[in-house]
Amino acid sequence: MDKINLKKLSSKEIEGIIKEWQLPSFRAKQLIHWIYHRFASSIQEITEWPKSLREEFSKNYFIGNIKLIEKKVSADKTEKYLFELKDSERIESVLIPDKQRLTLCISSQVGCPLKCKFCLTGKIGFIRNLEAWEIVDQFIQISKSLIKENRRITNIVFMGMGEPLLNFENTTEALWRFKDLVEFSPRRITLSTVGIIPALKELPKRAPNVKLAISLNASDDTIRTYLMPINKQYPLYELIKTLKNYPLKPRQRITIEYVLLKGVNDSEENAYSLCKLLKNIPCKINLIPFNPWQGCEFERPEESRIVKFQQILISKGYSVFIRKSKGEDILAACGQLKAMYN
Ligand code: SAH
Repeated sequence: MDKINLKKLSSKEIEGIIKEWQLPSFRAKQLIHWIYHRFASSIQEITEWPKSLREEFSKNYFIGNIKLIEKKVSADKTEKYLFELKDSERIESVLIPDKQRLTLCISSQVGCPLKCKFCLTGKIGFIRNLEAWEIVDQFIQISKSLIKENRRITNIVFMGMGEPLLNFENTTEALWRFKDLVEFSPRRITLSTVGIIPALKELPKRAPNVKLAISLNASDDTIRTYLMPINKQYPLYELIKTLKNYPLKPRQRITIEYVLLKGVNDSEENAYSLCKLLKNIPCKINLIPFNPWQGCEFERPEESRIVKFQQILISKGYSVFIRKSKGEDILAACGQLKAMYN
C-alpha cells in the first residue's frame, strides 16, 4: 500500500485515523499542531511523540513537502521563492514586506490558461491545477524558513501564478484549511480573480470573510476583451452586476485592480468611464503601473499620467492607491512570474 501524505487530509480525516489507531484524541491535535504550527516536514520531527509511535506511524503515513529550490531577494527586500512539485513542475511565491505587514503572494495553478496579453504567466499557458495541500504548503514552507528570522506572515494574497477561480474546488479547500488547520484568519486573505462569474457567485458561500480583488484593467468591453480574452465569455456587464450583488459586511470593500498600460487604458476618458462603471460598488482601486518583461508589447505610462489618472478617480470620491512595483529586478512583480519556464 502506498503511504498517505498527511498534508492531503482534513482535520476530520486526521481525527478519524487517530481513532482508527486507537490513540487518544490529543494525538490528533498534536499532529495538526506539528504540521501546521511548527511546520514539521517529517514524522520524525514530531519529538513530542514516543519514538515507537513515530516509527509505526511512518510505515503508513508521511508528511509531504513541496521543494524549495531557489530564493531570490530583490533590492527592495521582496523575496521570490521557486518551488518544485512532485511531478517536477514549478511554481513561484512572493513575500512582500511592507511596514508592519508581511504579505505572502501564492500561486493557485502551474501556469495559467487565461492568456491576458500583459501577463508573463499567461505566456507559459496552462500546465495543471495545484492541489489544495500544494497551495497551503507554499505558506508552510516559507513560514518554516522565517522562524529563525523571527518573522511571521501577516497576510496572504492569491495573486501569484494562475486563476484561483478556475481551480475552484482546490482553492476553496485550501481557504478552508488556512482557517481550520493553520488558524489563519480569512479576513487577512485576499483572493484575486478576473471574475469567473459562476465561481464568483459561489465564493462567498464557500469562503465567507475572504477578501475579494478583481482584475478589471479596462472599463469597456473592447479594450478588456483585447487585453483579457476571458472577457468574451464573462463580459463587463455581467461582472459588474455580480459585484453589485456581492455580499459584503459593513465597511468591507472590493479591491479593483487596474494595470495601467501606456496608450491603451490610461487616458482621462478611460478614468472617467471607470468611475461611471464602478458607481455604487463599495470598492477601493489599486492602480498597478505596468511591469514590463522581455518581449512584451506594452509600456508603463509616465508618472504624470499615472497621477492624473489617480486624481480623476479621487475627484469622483474613490479611494485610489498606486501599487508600488515590488521586486521588479528579480521578476517578482505582478504579472512577472514564470517559474523558469521558457
Ligand atoms: N488570475 C488572477 C490572479 C493573479 S493576480 C487575477 O488575474 O486576478 C495578478 C495581478 O497582476 C492581476 O491583477 C493582473 O492584472 C496583474 N498583472 C499581470 N501582469 C502584470 C504586469 N505585467 N504588470 C502589472 N500588473 C500585472
